[in-house]
Amino acid sequence: MRTHYCGDINETSIDDTVTFCGWVHRRRDHGGVIFLDVRDREGLVQVVFDPDTVEAFNTADSVRSEFVVQIVGRVRGRPDGAVNDGMRTGKIEILGKEITVLNKAQTPPFPLDGYTDVGEDIRLKYRYMDMRRPEMQEKMRFRSKVSSNLRRYLEDNGFLDIETPILTRATPEGARDYLVPSRTHEHSFFALPQSPQLFKQLLMVSGFDRYYQIAKCFRDEDLRADRQPEFTQIDIEASFIDEEEIMDLTQGMITELFEKELDVKLGEFPRMPYAEAMSKYGSDKPDLRIPLQLVDVAEFLQDIEFKVFAAPAKDPKGRVAALRVPGGAEISRKQIDAYTKYVSIYGAKGLAWIKVNEIEKGVEGLQSPIIKFIGDDNTMAIMKKLGAENGDIIFFGADKEMIVNEALGALRCKIGEDMNLYTCDWAPMWVVDFPMFEETKDGGITAIHHPFTAPSCSPEELKANPLTALSRAYDMVLNGCELGGGSIRIHDQAMQETVFEILGISEEEQQEKFGFLLDGLKFGAPPHGGLAFGLDRLVMLLTGSTSIREVIAFPKTQSAACAMTHAPGVVGNPQLRELNIKLREKPKADS
Ligand code: ASP
Repeated sequence: MRTHYCGDINETSIDDTVTFCGWVHRRRDHGGVIFLDVRDREGLVQVVFDPDTVEAFNTADSVRSEFVVQIVGRVRGRPDGAVNDGMRTGKIEILGKEITVLNKAQTPPFPLDGYTDVGEDIRLKYRYMDMRRPEMQEKMRFRSKVSSNLRRYLEDNGFLDIETPILTRATPEGARDYLVPSRTHEHSFFALPQSPQLFKQLLMVSGFDRYYQIAKCFRDEDLRADRQPEFTQIDIEASFIDEEEIMDLTQGMITELFEKELDVKLGEFPRMPYAEAMSKYGSDKPDLRIPLQLVDVAEFLQDIEFKVFAAPAKDPKGRVAALRVPGGAEISRKQIDAYTKYVSIYGAKGLAWIKVNEIEKGVEGLQSPIIKFIGDDNTMAIMKKLGAENGDIIFFGADKEMIVNEALGALRCKIGEDMNLYTCDWAPMWVVDFPMFEETKDGGITAIHHPFTAPSCSPEELKANPLTALSRAYDMVLNGCELGGGSIRIHDQAMQETVFEILGISEEEQQEKFGFLLDGLKFGAPPHGGLAFGLDRLVMLLTGSTSIREVIAFPKTQSAACAMTHAPGVVGNPQLRELNIKLREKPKADS
């Protein structure tokens, strides 16, 4: 139907007759001449219709935005002064000879021929229209290039692309499962994979040695900002490999991608133990573009009367930390109030601060509502430890360690952004030496990565001190986002059982849920490890998008629904009966 894409026609075709198809982007009537900008995935081309080609002129006059047309015309150079350097086809235009309307279109729900601020709900409802916009076309194309780059890299390194099932059993990655009822097995359910974790490990048992997959994963998570119930991972696993090798290999993959697609050299990725990341940045995914750090100051505050500081300073599970912000003395009271509200999201009950005006005058040169509670000497000792300078503001967090880390960690990033403190564009790193387990709020134990992660100690040591044991897990972090994470796995059945036991999974449950894995480990499982990258997040960062929804063709809304198809939908009784499902009445709303 065509000889060219619209956006590909250029000066090399001058005087040629070309045929192309696309959507009417814009129609202008210029003193008896009709101009159409016609668009396809490669871009726009300008077509001119003169009244002397009567039939074509009349058709061109009748078309409206987003009509689908096929045009035959002659390419000609634009006259001087009409050249548009901002357009790929800006040196030429087409003299239209024939135009066929292939399909009409209703008035689009929002204009596509210029930037308009359309709400995301409308964009998602008419996603197929939204994706006609050049920005979205560009993002989808870019995403395709990213996955093909990654595939090529992995294949060049001997990885095999192997698919794993979508209808499966639960793989615990810390979220709720999406369940699918089985019609043929009464009262039984499949789970959609939270990741291909166990299958990829079993592929190692099979001897495939190097596996990858661009895999859909499903996690029914609480509605946290910018998560999707289904998302895409670049999932990787390899045998006879240690942390060093797998980290080098995947670092190479990301470095090459940045170089090829953005012309950015990422350099070396520093490695930081988890404990250091939490202590200095309050986060296991520190944004190293921001030069601010958290500093412990509990030692000065244990013996004061002021309980807000003294209690967490004495509590082994508490933390009192300070965040010094150079230049922050200019932050207004109103802004401090806004930051106080911001940290309250993370459970902080307040946000104490000290402004440093003239440090040479001692406490006289400081401004703060809290010095009277801390005492002059303690205040000055803290200033010394922090290396406070005139013009600084110092924020304090005092609470349970987790709250302080989350609150000050988030504040650090917020201030970094608000004051534009970034020292570079890209700050990649590895976080290593994660603990194996953490305590849950109800006093139980849960795996920090997942229960298949190998510890860096023996089963006996692990059993004796589960909460201090470290794992062989690693996360790749870029600009404060976790790009990917993985670990060396347990390949020994006894060790796997020990971990399950520590997690309080009974032998019966182990057999019921993971019997197939435990069996697999008995038949000569090789040492293996791997990791998975979040493709959506990677593309979001590479394209500078503000949300992963911007780089997914048909994303779900924040409430885990599809605005276009209205999924999830109600299912009729006959279908439910076949599945042996009877729905409970909806609970009546409280009156
Ligand atoms: N399966 C893990 C995840 O989805 C990644 C890995 O350990 O390879 O987080």
